Amino acid sequence: MRIILLGPPGAGKGTQARILTEKYGIPQIAAGDLFRENIKNKTALGQQVEEILKAGTLVPDAITIKMISERLDQPDCKNGFILDGFPRNVAQAEALEEMLKKKGIKLDAAVQMTVDDDDLVERISGRFTCGDCGEGYHDKFKPPHDPDTCDKCGAKDHFTRRPDDNEETVRTRLDTYHKQTKPILPFYEERGLLKTVDGMAPLKNVTAEILALFPSKKTPNQGIQAKKNG
Ligand code: ADP
Ligand code: ADP
Ligand code: ZN
Repeated sequence: MRIILLGPPGAGKGTQARILTEKYGIPQIAAGDLFRENIKNKTALGQQVEEILKAGTLVPDAITIKMISERLDQPDCKNGFILDGFPRNVAQAEALEEMLKKKGIKLDAAVQMTVDDDDLVERISGRFTCGDCGEGYHDKFKPPHDPDTCDKCGAKDHFTRRPDDNEETVRTRLDTYHKQTKPILPFYEERGLLKTVDGMAPLKNVTAEILALFPSKKTPNQGIQAKKNG
């Protein structure tokens, strides 16, 4: 499965990407995560992009496209990938098309997740993440069972909140989405790749809606089951 998850900040791209990653055994490639990792490790790239992420505007295309192209060349992308938060403008969509053509790879779909702006602000202001395993949570919509402990990896007191998840930066990021990212929807529509899911639905329903778009894609586990049965 090779798909793009498209949607405004807080739409649930990362949450769904992580679920699909586990189901299909393919990596989530999130431009934002890659930038944050570089900032954390104080690399040259990290230093270049830190202020941009703080402001909530887009990192220059040349930097972003090179980073994604190199990531797609890693061996774990051989059987598929989920692009989360890339492309974010038309130039990036065109560059991705060109790059995939060169690599001999075909996209299955660009899945748009729609959520109203007011709900996005609530989603982003309640968002936090496990600093150890990266699992995502929400104060109201997805709280951990024990408030200090990650459900997934058991890390204690390791939750972090993103510095750009404050109301002012969120407004800038939403504005960037409407002005620069939305124009890529017709790009994928013209190519017959655009699918839309209702990102306002409860988390599990959104997952079900996305999975229903790919009925022919068996998860590795289903594949084994099918062999056993037949
Ligand atoms: P969100 O949760 O808001 O969708 P991301 O983690 O995807 O956030 O992105 C965080 C920040 O990283 C963005 O505000 C932007 O500064 C930068 N960024 C992420 N993806 C891209 C991209 N495709 N092009 C340029 N900048 C990007
Ligand atoms: P994105 O990657 O698109 O920026 P996230 O996946 O980080 O968005 O989701 C933003 C926040 O909203 C997270 O705290 C997540 O737990 C929560 N969330 C995600 N999907 C839903 C949903 N369908 N309903 C309610 N909350 C959600
Ligand atoms: Zn964890």
